[in-house]
Amino acid sequence: MWQGVIMHMRQMFTNSETSCFQQCQKKWYFCYHQLLRPKIRNWHLRFGSAFHAAMAVGYSIFLDKSLQALGESDYTNYIVDKARKGGQDELTGQYSDIIRKRVLDWSEEERIEKESEESRALLDSIVKLYFWVNRRDQHVWVPMLVEQPFRVPLLDANYNETGFYHLGVFDLVVYDLEWEAIVLVEFKTTSSDTSTVSRRFDFDPQMCGYLYALKYLLGTGKLLHPITGEKLTTSAGIGKISYNVCRKKIPSIPKMKKDGMVSVAAIDTLPSVYEDALKQQVRRGLEITTRQKVVLEGLRNRGFSSFFRRYEHYYSTGDLLTWAKEQRINCSNMAEMAENPSQAVRSPIACTMASSPRCAYRPICVDDTPEIRSAFYDASNKRHEEIDDMKGILR
Ligand code: SF4
Repeated sequence: MWQGVIMHMRQMFTNSETSCFQQCQKKWYFCYHQLLRPKIRNWHLRFGSAFHAAMAVGYSIFLDKSLQALGESDYTNYIVDKARKGGQDELTGQYSDIIRKRVLDWSEEERIEKESEESRALLDSIVKLYFWVNRRDQHVWVPMLVEQPFRVPLLDANYNETGFYHLGVFDLVVYDLEWEAIVLVEFKTTSSDTSTVSRRFDFDPQMCGYLYALKYLLGTGKLLHPITGEKLTTSAGIGKISYNVCRKKIPSIPKMKKDGMVSVAAIDTLPSVYEDALKQQVRRGLEITTRQKVVLEGLRNRGFSSFFRRYEHYYSTGDLLTWAKEQRINCSNMAEMAENPSQAVRSPIACTMASSPRCAYRPICVDDTPEIRSAFYDASNKRHEEIDDMKGILR
């Protein structure tokens, strides 16, 4: 069906667009057909952009080998400082954009200001923990691509071009010197404990698409060895995905009781934070109790895992072929819907999912008037906001 009708259209689709279409056609219609963008993005998106910016800055520093003469500790501090700044700059841009648009009343402005401060503190905490916990990366990961947009053709079962293209941005692709392999690195943030997200990786269409693109680029000789500069061949190991999950929470500071003792109540924190509190207690002339030692031991056993976890995952060739087949169908459906946008239907189940933030298109979905449009949305000239333009795109 799709070959005959739209092969000539050379349509480009991202995973975000596909997943939006699968969630709710009406939402896709507002976002990718009408190109309406909410004047205010939700906090999770704002924070996610800042976090990704921080990671991109941090790993870009790995490319400057002269800095490694600093010694591990100073080098890590340097990375943390630069990465923090990268993320903070992004937050500054996001929050000044909100104020500039003047869509808030004064009480909202106060809330946004408080939120901005909290986001900055949270970002600092996550970035510091991340780069200190992952100091090994400095020695074995050589970045190949950092926040790199790509565009690759979607092939059919016989490896012929379909006219559809898969578009996206690699967070990070590294060459692992220990594994002698290319690793696709993905950053995620979560509001819950980091252990709860692993089931999302069993079949992750976004990463299947990225791996598909990476394999295509490798096969066409577009990837170079980051040290020798030689073209990498398909024999270069590829397939490992490193998911880096950071929890959006600052480790709690233990409470101090009236008598100056540190509380032994269950606490959600890092062992180093609890240990620091105990050191202060000792400085106050109070000895550490057995109960406190037990609490500290429990936290040490848990380590930092509830705040950060790294998961390794692999997708087989069969997984990628399945993804490509499904993506061809998705692209076909989206292209057909673009021809008949009035056919887009609402999917109420998508707007009532308790685990998802409220749909940003709810106001217009309920009442599509020019007033609502101009009050809540800006018109964009880009279908895919995450890809600024086609300059520098890897294809
Ligand atoms: S409010 Fe619900 S039905 Fe309407 S666009 Fe959003 S997800 Fe779709």
